Amino acid sequence: MNNVCHAITKATSSLVGCFLQMEKMIINCREREKEEDFRCKQGTVHVDVKNCPILKQVSKLYTRTMYGKFYENFKVGEFGLFIEKDYMTSESICIMEIRWCDRAENNKYWTVELDLKTLDIHCSCCKFETNGILYSHALKAYTHKNLTSIPEKYLHRRWMVHAKKSIYHHDNLKRSESNCSLAFRNHMCRAAYDLALRVEKCEITI
Ligand SMILES: [Zn+2]
Repeated sequence: MNNVCHAITKATSSLVGCFLQMEKMIINCREREKEEDFRCKQGTVHVDVKNCPILKQVSKLYTRTMYGKFYENFKVGEFGLFIEKDYMTSESICIMEIRWCDRAENNKYWTVELDLKTLDIHCSCCKFETNGILYSHALKAYTHKNLTSIPEKYLHRRWMVHAKKSIYHHDNLKRSESNCSLAFRNHMCRAAYDLALRVEKCEITI
């Protein structure tokens, strides 16, 4: 959020100016979301490497933008990283030391811990925990072990093509409803009621 605010305002901006900029930015975000939804509905994402099962899996689930980001990380993992060490510390826990070399030939290292039974993964960069997307180091570890899919817990639902399916969406509103605000309220009431019914039936308690 800090990054967003710094990008749209200056130190000399007035409070009103900040809010106006923020409002403009939110409108732009919504427009980009609508455009992304439209593009996702036009067909499946083009898979850059046809015989790669991991890319196929992700292309079916993620939106085009998120697939693009995933693919960039995948490429870095495949073509820019090297496995320096690969050893087991227990029956299922594998440790991989991963090296990246920049143009000035400075090396950087990360340690990835992969449970080969559960496919749980943790990288010393902690970028998944911070940003919610698997980075090149973790992807390199998966492909190095010839794994063909990524556990769904590492693919966030909020970036999936159907993330908004059961939530409010402009297309879900009846076009005949002239009062958009009333239509929105009706739609959200129905969604909240459905959710309450589902929670009531759920046996899991907090
Ligand atoms: Zn990492």
